[in-house]
Amino acid sequence: MKAVRVGPDAAVSVVEIPVPRIGPGEALVKTRACGICGSDLLAWYVRGKAGTVLGHELAGEIVEVAAGVEGFTEGDRVVPHHHAPCGACDDCRNGRPVHCREWRTSSLDPGGMAEFVRIPASNLARDTQKTPPSVTDEEATFVEPLATVVKAFGRGRYAPSRSLLAVGLGTTGQLAIRLAKSLGAIRIAGADRVASRLDVARTSGATEVLDVSRAPISGSGAFDFVFVGPGKSSVIEPALEAVAPGGTLLAFTMSAPDERLAFSLHDLYFREVEIVPSYSAGPEDMREALALLSSRRIRVADLVTQRFGIDRAREAFARAADPEGSVKVLLTFG
Ligand SMILES: [Zn+2]
Ligand SMILES: [Zn+2]
Repeated sequence: MKAVRVGPDAAVSVVEIPVPRIGPGEALVKTRACGICGSDLLAWYVRGKAGTVLGHELAGEIVEVAAGVEGFTEGDRVVPHHHAPCGACDDCRNGRPVHCREWRTSSLDPGGMAEFVRIPASNLARDTQKTPPSVTDEEATFVEPLATVVKAFGRGRYAPSRSLLAVGLGTTGQLAIRLAKSLGAIRIAGADRVASRLDVARTSGATEVLDVSRAPISGSGAFDFVFVGPGKSSVIEPALEAVAPGGTLLAFTMSAPDERLAFSLHDLYFREVEIVPSYSAGPEDMREALALLSSRRIRVADLVTQRFGIDRAREAFARAADPEGSVKVLLTFG
């Protein structure tokens, strides 16, 4: 089968590898679509995954189930999560599934950007959802990214009475705006340097947009909840200045190991600004995300700007790396 493997130079290539074999409690999924995530484009991050198959925003159909599988059968359309927690340890019981020991060891085989994917027993039992008929496979690829935004809103204690500024208007910035709007928010702003993404933000529900190629975020006024996409100090430091007293800066994306923040602790203290990181998402967030999509409280179909068959994965990654005219680039499978 074909799969998208990342090399030591962080470039991807399409390779031929064996279809995974499943064991007890596991299922084999034929992938229908898989999104390219912003993290798949972070060179420092994917270099650390050299030799592996990328892809964690997938939707597909079960084509084989092994002995011991309950609740799933061939033909089920599903959204498997890339990692699953044990559900029983202290971290799991206290709402921190991403810190569960089993989390890291539960990854999909070989990854979502492959024609077939083995779903380990823990992922199948604890974080694989059936895709309702009302949700297309393409829409279902948004369950994972939307779940990370749902989790971030929870960690940052976002409430619709709080004004929101989304900094960085790729897929998750747009989803943050859409989630805030669905919750009834009144003041929602989006900031980016790419004109086409500012236009999409208006469609998403932004009541104001800030073109940061013209004026810095720091001068944009005060927002209660500043949701920052890029994990770079050059973005986070000015974004901190846009947080209102008593407000929250939500650090949404992973930062490189050598990234450091410089800010005034004096200001942080007297302005009581919280900096809250939010990493990935757990099973509850995945369930909430699918419910938001299936109930049409959040619509995502228009966020798919380009589609490429898996044979054209290199082209797809190049397109996704160019923000002008793109939001979500999907890999599709025949
Ligand atoms: Zn992702
Ligand atoms: Zn656990």
